[in-house]
Amino acid sequence: MDFKEKIRVIPDYPHEGIRFKDITTLLKDGPAYKAAIEKLAEFAREKKPDLIVGPEARGFVVGCPLAIQLGAGFVPVRKKGKLPCETVQAEYSLEYGKDALAMHKDAIQPGQRVLIADDLLATGGTIQTTLNLVKQLGGEIVGFAFLIELTYLNGREKLGDEHDIFTLIQY
Ligand code: 5GP
Repeated sequence: MDFKEKIRVIPDYPHEGIRFKDITTLLKDGPAYKAAIEKLAEFAREKKPDLIVGPEARGFVVGCPLAIQLGAGFVPVRKKGKLPCETVQAEYSLEYGKDALAMHKDAIQPGQRVLIADDLLATGGTIQTTLNLVKQLGGEIVGFAFLIELTYLNGREKLGDEHDIFTLIQY
């Protein structure tokens, strides 16, 4: 299947000069969504993860079906202030200023095998922050899976070279 053809590219969104990759056109196509998740699952299954960790909100759309396919658990990463129990937090930079992502402190037991999933790898900031949270809790990273990679932004470099990174579509 040509997955790239299912992605809608929106020029100048959310800012001039950005070509936003809209995944909603893939998601609303049942067979394409299922086939895309199956491709990610083929990669992820070999890593034998106990948990899939995904950042809100589009990381849920990829991470949850992946977790169900593998029979793994799912752990949400949320903007700080959204989770009800005790959390660990990690800061990340925005265009102007900083924000933080959070995860429940008891979400991962030390040594559990964790695969991180999101819709898109751009600069890698979001996933590097997610990685930081998983490390704080002693999770063992076994890989990363994304629907889309913007290769020209070199996000991979932030994730180090000790883990396999699978991306279904590249720009
Ligand atoms: P990064 O932190 O790697 O620079 O950006 C990745 C995060 O921003 C992902 O969580 C993703 O959802 C969002 N993102 C950035 N650019 C795009 C885009 O063009 N399309 C979509 N769907 N998400 C994007």
